[in-house]
Amino acid sequence: MSEILVLVDHVDGSVRKTTAELLTIARRLGTPSAVFIGSGADAAQAALAQYGAETVYVLDAPELSEFLVAPKAEALAQLVADKQPGAVLISSSAEGKEIAGRLAIKTESGVITDAVDVVAEGDGVKTTQSVFAGGFTVDATVTHGTPIVAVKPNSATPEEASGAATLEPVSVTVSDAAKGAKITDSKPREATGRPELTEAAIVVSGGRGTGGDFSQVEAFADSLGAAVGASRAAVDSGWYPHSFQVGQTGKTVSPQLYVANGISGAIQHRAGMQTSKTIVAVNKDPEAPIFELVDFGVVGDLKEVLPQATDEVTKRK
Ligand code: FAD
Repeated sequence: MSEILVLVDHVDGSVRKTTAELLTIARRLGTPSAVFIGSGADAAQAALAQYGAETVYVLDAPELSEFLVAPKAEALAQLVADKQPGAVLISSSAEGKEIAGRLAIKTESGVITDAVDVVAEGDGVKTTQSVFAGGFTVDATVTHGTPIVAVKPNSATPEEASGAATLEPVSVTVSDAAKGAKITDSKPREATGRPELTEAAIVVSGGRGTGGDFSQVEAFADSLGAAVGASRAAVDSGWYPHSFQVGQTGKTVSPQLYVANGISGAIQHRAGMQTSKTIVAVNKDPEAPIFELVDFGVVGDLKEVLPQATDEVTKRK
């Protein structure tokens, strides 16, 4: 079985759920190995072993953290040339997609982004990809070089499997050309206590229909352990921060459950959420376009529906 490299998504060694998803997919394709860039690999080792990583390649040159993504892509290209893996899996975040694209150029390989499924096919992999803002799904394979696949968060349910997760330091050289953009400052986002929007299994969003009061949306989200999202109308009105906007000019989410509250369902909003597994909408207008898309719809005032739904969920816990 060929080795499948998974780029670890972590914050100071704390491994994000998307990596467990990628390792789960990697096990279906071959022997999973993790690639850990930065410091904190010791802290991540147990979590990587828990999802079946056999080897953890540790790339810890200071340049990899001091600059934007170009050095990471360059270092990964050196590892790919050395290991000749069957595929490289990366989380389809904004940074992940940029690394994937740069890596594909450096390795002269094909790249597929926004994959929602990856299966083995012949000597390679076949992906199902979400394209045109989620309007179509396309099956695609890489026909040249090592397949570089960026997979959307929540595309697989993490399954545990024990792996050795043997740490293997890898020395890399970073060229001056890759050091074009240096990070001068970074601040962690204010903690909300809720899951990260793009990774959350459940997202509860609010739109103009909230009238600017997100308290009921937040209370319902908290009863479900969900992330909170917002439409652009809500963000543009200053009711919720831009980092929570879902849609074409916001974040793309693909949770197990998406609940849209007081959101009409404009095409630009759909672009960010229509690959969600189950979609529920609460809207007082029975003709709202969001109802064309939903699995379950509630016609009603969110100010009445959400408190009842929150009570019901809380009661059943
Ligand atoms: P509205 O369209 O005004 O809908 C509000 C809904 O709330 C209505 O359906 C109404 O019936 C319902 N409602 C009102 N009161 C209640 C109540 N008490 N209870 C229940 N329901 C109620 N939009 C995004 O969301 N994300 C994007 O990334 C994005 N990018 C864009 C990019 C471009 C280039 C452009 C041109 C637009 C973009 N938009 C985006 C904007 C998009 O076109 C819509 O204007 C926006 O999504 C509308 O937000 P909304 O559904 O909250 O508001």
